[in-house]
Amino acid sequence: MRARVYRVDREAPDPEVISRAAEVIRAGGLVAFPTETVYGLGADALNPRAVEKVFRVKGRPPDNPLIIHIASFEDLYSVAEEVDWRAEKLARRFWPGPLTLIVKRSPRVPDVTVAGLDTAAVRMPRHNVALKLIETSERPIAAPSANKSGKPSPTLAAHVLQDLGDEIDLILDAGPTDIGVESTVLDLTSERPVILRPGGVSREEIEAVIGEVEVHPSALGLLFHSGESPRSPGMKYRHYAPAAKLIVVEGELEEVRNAVASLADLLMSRGIRVGVLGSDGYSYRADIVRDLGSRSNPLEAARRLFVSLREMDEEGVEVIVAEGWEEEKGIGLALKNRLRKASGGAVLRADWLLRALKTSPSSVYTEVMGT
Ligand code: AMP
Ligand code: MG
Repeated sequence: MRARVYRVDREAPDPEVISRAAEVIRAGGLVAFPTETVYGLGADALNPRAVEKVFRVKGRPPDNPLIIHIASFEDLYSVAEEVDWRAEKLARRFWPGPLTLIVKRSPRVPDVTVAGLDTAAVRMPRHNVALKLIETSERPIAAPSANKSGKPSPTLAAHVLQDLGDEIDLILDAGPTDIGVESTVLDLTSERPVILRPGGVSREEIEAVIGEVEVHPSALGLLFHSGESPRSPGMKYRHYAPAAKLIVVEGELEEVRNAVASLADLLMSRGIRVGVLGSDGYSYRADIVRDLGSRSNPLEAARRLFVSLREMDEEGVEVIVAEGWEEEKGIGLALKNRLRKASGGAVLRADWLLRALKTSPSSVYTEVMGT
């Protein structure tokens, strides 16, 4: 099967096309559709067989639950058992928008959708095409990102086609997504709300509505340590990773740039094909350089992150050396999280790296390339 791809206008999607896509959802098929964050791979959230297909085609571990997308506030009450004042307030303030709420689930939701948990993740996307699809299907739509599990999330329909084109029924293409990183996942099932995944709505914005929230340590993008049981099953898996090895260099910006440039030089001198992910138009020597834009505009950087990683892979680089982003305010936390996670934990301090490159470049080389 090769997916049919339909171009749709974001503001006024052709109702004919939306009905065709909704028919696919109602018949238990899979439709990839744009949201304001990334492209989602949608299935009827209440149809276990359809949801199983989502897991299968993505290669997603069955213990990692899906987000249920809805198009009206009433739908929240149909998939949630309990909706407390915090959920109410947050939904009213941020929906439609990139905030996912973890709530006690209704027994109507099949086990497979929530991976057997007694909670469900719910959000209302801020994208006309997504909303029209959900409304016309008359079903809540379970949708993870429309990529192969572990790869950078799709911000263009072309990314979906690359990853899943042969395995799904239909793709709605409304051009690039706005935010470029996924929704914020907020767990409301405990006394103290916890951000399990930073995303399009910031900690500060949430706190302005319901008071103090915690940020789970994994949200900082460090790898989940086995032993502790994960609050969000997704935390324990490697995510967003390009095929190339990704090294993130953090520290003081000038040192970061020196270290990135020196590491790229060392690798190229040994015949490695190298990509550099920079910022502010700073000029690097590498086989391919991508720039996430101005340091003062982390929103734009977030939007460009996944597409840049995918472009590096298309260029066949073996190693990507990236300047780190460490700002934790606003969307900064999501950017830091995605970049660190994409590296699978290969985060180096610039001052350490500069010293090591001076004293023992060969050991840096072995460390980076593995033996
Ligand atoms: P994705 O589908 O890639 O956007 O990932 C959805 C994220 O939400 C994953 O990190 C999941 O583990 C998390 N998630 C979904 N449902 C739940 C839930 N009921 N409890 C905790 N985390 C959840
Ligand atoms: Mg995903």
